[in-house]
Amino acid sequence: GKRAFIAGVADDNGYGWAIAKSLAAAGAEILVGTWVPALNIFETSLRRGKFDESRVLPDGSLMEITKIYPLDAIYDKLEDVPEDVKSNKRYSGSSKWTVQECAESVKQDFGSIDILVHSLANGPEVSKPLLETSRNGYLAALSASSYSYVSLLKHFIPLMNPGGSSLSLTYIASERIIPGYGGGMSSAKAALESDTRVLAFEAGRKHRIRVNAISAGPLRSRAAKAIGF
Ligand code: NAD
Repeated sequence: GKRAFIAGVADDNGYGWAIAKSLAAAGAEILVGTWVPALNIFETSLRRGKFDESRVLPDGSLMEITKIYPLDAIYDKLEDVPEDVKSNKRYSGSSKWTVQECAESVKQDFGSIDILVHSLANGPEVSKPLLETSRNGYLAALSASSYSYVSLLKHFIPLMNPGGSSLSLTYIASERIIPGYGGGMSSAKAALESDTRVLAFEAGRKHRIRVNAISAGPLRSRAAKAIGF
């Protein structure tokens, strides 16, 4: 069977969860990467059976998540993490959650993966129109929502089996004006789409890995509710 790593699952409402379920139903082994600040509540809810109803697969069995890895995809390696984040209570309880360390952990535990899914985004100023977005807010949106994919792919490619596949989620606001999708998030999705073409070219030739993005329709995930969608 195939093994999939899905980055960006912290509850049962988002695309990451739904993709995990589809892959599990198709027989894949599921590993997930969960944003560090959301890790505790996700693990606790899962353990207490809060997601059991939404874990049901078409054959009646429950989706198993083989392992949950803490991840913060805005940091590539430990040296990049500022002191205040390192000592933050929500972060100091876990370790090895930079992209590089996360990929190393998956490699140590499982050796290889076949499928990499990027289902994460963050734009601290998403509710502000682009005209009112600060430089920091804009760059933070690109860092969490676009470069995070470049970084994930870069660090996971060495453990991806040839013929493997990777996927990210984009949104039509990259091409058309969607008022409310601000803070540089429209720019971040445009970058993600352009990067998908370039990464498909590079990863395809060099490593026989496919790179695709799905432009998904609107879904009332946690992230979408936060911006009033
Ligand atoms: P979601 O809240 O389920 O998923 C976003 C996840 O990103 C969350 O689990 C959050 O914890 C995680 N995250 C945020 N910052 C992170 C970081 N620095 N490191 C690691 N994880 C981090 O919401 P969703 O809407 O399902 O989003 C998944 C993907 O789908 C995103 O790329 C989003 O832009 C895209 N998308 C969503 C919609 C929609 O309407 N919901 C439409 C098109 C595309």
